Amino acid sequence: MTSIGTGTRDNPVPATPDTLPNACYWFTDPDGALCLSPGCMARIQDPDAQCLCDTLTARLDRLTGRLRGLEERHRYANVWWQALSSVVRDHPDGRAIITETRARTGR
Ligand SMILES: [Zn+2]
Repeated sequence: MTSIGTGTRDNPVPATPDTLPNACYWFTDPDGALCLSPGCMARIQDPDAQCLCDTLTARLDRLTGRLRGLEERHRYANVWWQALSSVVRDHPDGRAIITETRARTGR
C-alpha cells in the first residue's frame, strides 16, 4: 500500500481558521472546497508548479547551522581578541606591537 502524504492535492487536510501551515499545504475549507496555501514562490505563481518548500527548508536549515557555527567562532575570536589586546596594552613594548600590527594589516 502506498502511503500518501497529507496536505497534498490528492490528500488535502481539513482546516479551520486556526490552522497555520508552514509550507505548501492543500486543505479543504469548512465548505469542503479544495484550497492551496502556498509556501514557496513557485506555487504562489502557479499552484500546479513543483513545490520547492522542502528544498528551501533544507537550505534554510543548512544556512542556519552554518550561521550558528560562525557566530560561535566569532564569540571565541572576540574573547581571544579582548584578552590579547589587554596583554599587549600591559606589555612594555605594547605601543610598538600595536604600531607594527597596524602597519601589517593596513589599519
Ligand atoms: Zn511549496
